[in-house]
Amino acid sequence: MKKTIIITLILCMVLPVILSACTPSHEHEYSTEITKQPTCSATGIKTYTCTICKDSYTEEIPTTEHTLTEEVTLKPTCEKEGVITKTCVDCGYSEKEAIPMAEHEYKEKITKKATCTKKGTKTLTCSVCGDTKKEEIPAKGHNFNEKITQKATCTKAGKKTLTCKNCGLKKTEKIPAKGHQWINATCTTAKKCSVCGKKDGKALGHIPNDDGRCTRCGQEVGLITIKLKGKALPRTLTCSDWGTITTKTLITGFDYKVEMDEYDNGHFYHKITLYFTGEKLYDREGSGYSRECTIGYKLYDSDGYMIASGNASTADIKEGEKFRDWPGSEFYTEVKLIRGGTYTLELLDVR
Ligand SMILES: [Zn+2]
Ligand SMILES: [Zn+2]
Ligand SMILES: [Zn+2]
Ligand SMILES: [Zn+2]
Ligand SMILES: [Zn+2]
Ligand SMILES: [Zn+2]
Repeated sequence: MKKTIIITLILCMVLPVILSACTPSHEHEYSTEITKQPTCSATGIKTYTCTICKDSYTEEIPTTEHTLTEEVTLKPTCEKEGVITKTCVDCGYSEKEAIPMAEHEYKEKITKKATCTKKGTKTLTCSVCGDTKKEEIPAKGHNFNEKITQKATCTKAGKKTLTCKNCGLKKTEKIPAKGHQWINATCTTAKKCSVCGKKDGKALGHIPNDDGRCTRCGQEVGLITIKLKGKALPRTLTCSDWGTITTKTLITGFDYKVEMDEYDNGHFYHKITLYFTGEKLYDREGSGYSRECTIGYKLYDSDGYMIASGNASTADIKEGEKFRDWPGSEFYTEVKLIRGGTYTLELLDVR
């Protein structure tokens, strides 16, 4: 009985301690510490310790990378691979890597020259291993110098001689005719080649407008000039009646107007107005008598053909009276007056 009591007492004293150790009454709060630094050759250790109950465990830290330096320990050639050696500066660890074989170091020698038309050959020899191979050199083709022996014209082909600078081969080639370089016809010039001057067709001729200008080229072409024939002005003209002078007129100025008009059927005629300036010098009836003076005229073309004639008259005037730009005559002609032409007016005494 006594023994039982003692066991019970021991159990009561120890049990709380065992229970508290098995089921802690807190969450562990670990602090970490690197207890061994890792290197490139050995792992390190990290230790976790609970700040409350000092419970602890460890974790491995992996090794660090090697710090490698590279060195070519065997140069590659066209026959053998080379070697590159990498060594760790910290632990002396080393590894090797192959360097691929190098290209052959060919030197070329022309064993057969290429010509203009034939291929050549060159031989390539490796200065290291003596390996050889042959390569083709393409034919160069001719390099011609050109000389024109006959120039081409607008209508005729020319010739040129080609000589190869390298092999001397000669050949002749045609130069095609160039063809005319036409300049279009204008009012006054026919269609013409600017190189050889050949003409084709006729000048187009002007297209006169009502104002006497060409609608195509703008040139003043419609104007018709009338010049006085013979002595220059002033001139005295007489008018007689059966051998007796009735009036004497001094003509000091002459002018004219040529107007073009058109019939309904498309025919043209010209209206010509003659203007005179002058003075009455004499009247048979005396100085106080007022009447018109008559002036004769004939109009000729440039070939001397008469195309109009008639009498012009002044206003009714006394001796000593003057008239200016008096339209003494107005007449129509169906004779085709040439635009730009010059006509001659002859002034005449009237009998
Ligand atoms: Zn703890
Ligand atoms: Zn290392
Ligand atoms: Zn080689
Ligand atoms: Zn050649
Ligand atoms: Zn031509
Ligand atoms: Zn014109």
